Amino acid sequence: MSDKIRITITASECFPFSKTGGLADVVGALPKELEKIGCEVCVFTPLYQCVKNGKFDLQDLGKEITIVISDRLVKGTIYKSTIGNNVAVYFIGNDHYYNRPELYSTNDGDYLDNAERFIFFSKAVIEALKELNIQTDVMHCNDWQTGLIPVFLKLKENNNTFFSQTSTVFTIHNLAYQGLFWHLDMPLTNLSWDIFSPEGIEFYGKINLMKAGIVFADLINTVSKTYSKEIQTEELGCGLEGILKTRADKLFGILNGVDYDVWNPETDPYIKQNYSSIDMSGKTLCKQDLLDSFELTNNNNLPIFGMISRLEDQKGFDLITKRFEDFMALDLILVILGTGNNKYQKIFEELKQQYPDRLGVKITFDNSLAHKIEAGSDFFLMPSRFEPCGLNQMYSLHYGTVPIVRATGGLNDTVKDFNPQTEIGNGFSFKPYTSNALLEKIKQALKIYKSKNHFNRLRCNGMQEDFSWMAAAKQYLKLYKKSLSK
Ligand code: ADP
Repeated sequence: MSDKIRITITASECFPFSKTGGLADVVGALPKELEKIGCEVCVFTPLYQCVKNGKFDLQDLGKEITIVISDRLVKGTIYKSTIGNNVAVYFIGNDHYYNRPELYSTNDGDYLDNAERFIFFSKAVIEALKELNIQTDVMHCNDWQTGLIPVFLKLKENNNTFFSQTSTVFTIHNLAYQGLFWHLDMPLTNLSWDIFSPEGIEFYGKINLMKAGIVFADLINTVSKTYSKEIQTEELGCGLEGILKTRADKLFGILNGVDYDVWNPETDPYIKQNYSSIDMSGKTLCKQDLLDSFELTNNNNLPIFGMISRLEDQKGFDLITKRFEDFMALDLILVILGTGNNKYQKIFEELKQQYPDRLGVKITFDNSLAHKIEAGSDFFLMPSRFEPCGLNQMYSLHYGTVPIVRATGGLNDTVKDFNPQTEIGNGFSFKPYTSNALLEKIKQALKIYKSKNHFNRLRCNGMQEDFSWMAAAKQYLKLYKKSLSK
């Protein structure tokens, strides 16, 4: 082993190149921090259309790799760019698989060949490491798209000295997305049918790529302590609670961090005026700018509630929509930015007709508007049914935008309910998954909002929190070292 621990991080998205959610933020930030604490890190991710067409400094390494998919030979290319202080990001190219408008799915549903796309990717990462002669001590895989890498390393590369010292760490970012495919995709893996068993990668007759990572990685972690416990229960284990319990001694929880280079009201280039906890005056301009973006006016100076989210059941939208009238009766303005489930797109677009002056809805993915919402809102709503970590509540805290969350997963680990007597707490948090509990919490929040001193204290408490990646990176380094002593 060289002096520096060598880490390869593989994932299906990486900010700023590609992003559909929090995974991208993590993969774009963690390597930079690991590098700062002395690791040698590189990242592998697919060369999507958005990467090729984006304004990135991409280098074609002129290398071709050949991957066996069933009885076919499929070619791949390798491109390179960097993030942070020269951390290498390698892109696996294959236009047939990745040169598409979206990463995983369109409005019509998931791409039908997602199994093949990510089986190819997982095999290609291993071949690319060999081709580039990058030896790695730890292979850090993330979510189902890379779940087969630990399997390939254990079963296919076990006699290859190139990987003989390599341990594997598998991070679960969201157990609800498992990469389930019918058994007839099994030959694409070129693995023996022996592992298509309940102890292996089989799950009720299907291939489960998340389970592959869970069963075969040396160590497993998820993105908050609370979620690491919750996924061992029937309620949130998504059918994998049994297997997770059997591996409980190998399962850890490490809270994600915030990339304060990207999410910082003092330097944010997307917001109307920068501000800090010392001088919050810029936030007033940001509020107006946000209203302008949604073509809303606010003559009565109502509090603004923001949401930025995938429009999925997970995020608790049903709690809001079920009692929308009661919610809007509370005299507030709500702005929502999101994409996802057509059901919620339709509901919110219809509600917009009913509340044209107080509801703003944008059904799109817009990074710059996401920053404006963090800066221009007074409150940020995240009433999630479950939330592995959640990033937006941490961004909100830093922007002096008070989060109102359901106490689950990472929300439970980051947002502490404000107590006006002690003035301890950084937001509002409720437990029962009911519209009632949410409405009651919002009423409490609005009461505090009216009491200027309390509200300022609450805001300051949030802005003083430090969820920077450095703490998380140190914990990851510990985990990597632990995996090496397997
Ligand atoms: P998840 O990974 O479950 O989607 P997280 O809170 O962990 O949720 O991370 C979501 C990330 O994606 C945040 O950075 C958030 O700002 C961003 N995001 C989600 N939806 C949108 C959208 N429609 N436009 C811009 N950014 C979005």
